[in-house]
Amino acid sequence: MGIRGAPVMSGGAMRDGIGMTSLRTRRRLIDRLRANGIQSEKVLSALESTPRHLFVGEAMAHKAYEDTALPIGHQQTISQPWVVARMTELLLEDDDGPKKVLEVGTGCGYQTAILSQLSRWVFTIERIGALLDQARERLQSLGYRNISYLHGDGFAGWESNQPFDRILVAAAPAEIPAALLAQLAEGGRMVLPVGSGHQELRVVTREARGFHEEVREAVRFVPMLKGQS
Ligand code: SAH
Repeated sequence: MGIRGAPVMSGGAMRDGIGMTSLRTRRRLIDRLRANGIQSEKVLSALESTPRHLFVGEAMAHKAYEDTALPIGHQQTISQPWVVARMTELLLEDDDGPKKVLEVGTGCGYQTAILSQLSRWVFTIERIGALLDQARERLQSLGYRNISYLHGDGFAGWESNQPFDRILVAAAPAEIPAALLAQLAEGGRMVLPVGSGHQELRVVTREARGFHEEVREAVRFVPMLKGQS
């Protein structure tokens, strides 16, 4: 029998203890995102319930709830939480229900996990096979089920599953890829960083008569590269 308030540390209790610590640090991150202008409560609560420390390597886990990008190997980075929150907020603004979402640039799968909680189905494409395999394994073991994975080149989109209600691109092309515009549903919206050197977030909506584009804040993403590896 454990003493009241000081239970014997079983495996489960240890896990809970660690879980609580990370829950507190997660809450601190959420407060900070809110202070920095993230308004969507559903986006904030998706970030709060997502264990970012499990998406970065052990060596980086202690920094997982700081608002910074971190290396994930293969010269790629997990996006900064504020950027993930902002892009998701822009993507799902005025959203009245779950949607079919295409994500380009799975990376470690963190943004995928957020999208999975806020949409009906996520189609995610990654050009680096090793990263995609790791992300798939991680997301499946964490119980995210509504995700389809493709090792491929996001410049081509995902023809067999188009059109998409929402498209989120997590790497920066110099110009908006034509195939992604073509695969966006009417009434749909795409959020992506654009530019080589100076990059800015753009929000593209598809209307009956064509595309409408808005320029948002300056950002820094890894470049979107052609082909697979
Ligand atoms: N949201 C991810 C971001 C990873 S960085 C995360 O938080 O982990 C961007 C990712 O885009 C990298 O993994 C990179 O390999 C991938 N990428 C770059 N060009 C691509 C392309 N043409 N098609 C698919 N993925 C691409």
